[in-house]
Amino acid sequence: MKRRQFLGQLGKGALLSGAGLAAGCKPAEQASQTGVAPAAATFKPVKWKMVTTWPKNFPGLGTGANYLAELITRMSGGRIEVKVYGAGELVPAFEVFDAVRQGTAQLGHGSAYYWKGKSEAAQFFSAVPFGLTAAEMNAWLYHGGGMELWQETYAPFGLMPMAAGNTGVQMAGWFNREINSLEDLQGLKMRIPGLGGEVLARAGGVPVNLPGGELFTALQSGAIDATEWVGPYNDLAFGFYKAAKYYYYPGWHEPGTTLECMVNQAALTALPQELQDIMLNAARVANQNMLTEYIARNNQALQTLLNEHHVDMRPLPDAVLSRLQQLSDEVVAEVAAKDALSQRVNDSFQAFRKQVTAWHDISERAYLNARAVNSI
Ligand code: CA
Repeated sequence: MKRRQFLGQLGKGALLSGAGLAAGCKPAEQASQTGVAPAAATFKPVKWKMVTTWPKNFPGLGTGANYLAELITRMSGGRIEVKVYGAGELVPAFEVFDAVRQGTAQLGHGSAYYWKGKSEAAQFFSAVPFGLTAAEMNAWLYHGGGMELWQETYAPFGLMPMAAGNTGVQMAGWFNREINSLEDLQGLKMRIPGLGGEVLARAGGVPVNLPGGELFTALQSGAIDATEWVGPYNDLAFGFYKAAKYYYYPGWHEPGTTLECMVNQAALTALPQELQDIMLNAARVANQNMLTEYIARNNQALQTLLNEHHVDMRPLPDAVLSRLQQLSDEVVAEVAAKDALSQRVNDSFQAFRKQVTAWHDISERAYLNARAVNSI
């Protein structure tokens, strides 16, 4: 049953071609003749490259790519060797999509909202403001039709997407201005990319996009009033608490950002079927592993920020969040209206959000509320 499910993810274009069998054919023949399983060393390993949008070994994201690469090698008994390249080592971060499309690398690790220039619909597969949490996103992808739509979005580029990690709910960010009302967003110069930035602009703010390495200095010098990044685990490492007065939550703009691993479709389908299955299952393991690592590390880092660095952490006011949600719905609807595929993806996404909200209101939310009351 499981096997069929994963095979189903490959889609109609993913039928096994004979060409790639060469690597595993001879040892398999030997095994059938002798009845003895061949040693892994007798296989000629397939050597693949994984290019990433992250700095090499960047906590959570870069290390998540490393983990997936190692997992593919281990699960395949060494038949697939994956070498990971940090951003800029083989290709710049924002050329990952084209590098895998063209076969310069077979795998690419990033996040789908980087590729809106290729397809507007891609943005729905990473993070949507006031969209799905990590658990809901995985439910939509694996059991709600999301993965099929993602495959359809990438298929014209000869790419096969896999969910390969999730940050969980991010933080709203680091601010040097108190946010007590909508007026406080007026003129707020904040580093916040993507759809969230568009929403901030409509609320009167000034979104800017800067690479991670420049954020601390920009915040400290006053060039920006605020920045979002990820969550306590990554934010502590960057030392933002030394340059900003307030740490706001929740990350309305990135409620459960999905990381991806895209595969060159031709390279994938050239593999024996079991190696294709291993690839897809390795991504599933990596997807779950990154989320659990973030939850564990965010918790540890938050305690350090609060107890050792005495960070002033605050919730965004309800009125601000309510307005940001209204504006987010407008922005997302406009993206969806840009082309037929984006509309279909958004229709599926919104229907799933509505449905899962009804369930989570009486399960996750009700339980967390109950636990909070009882822990006071
Ligand atoms: Ca972020």
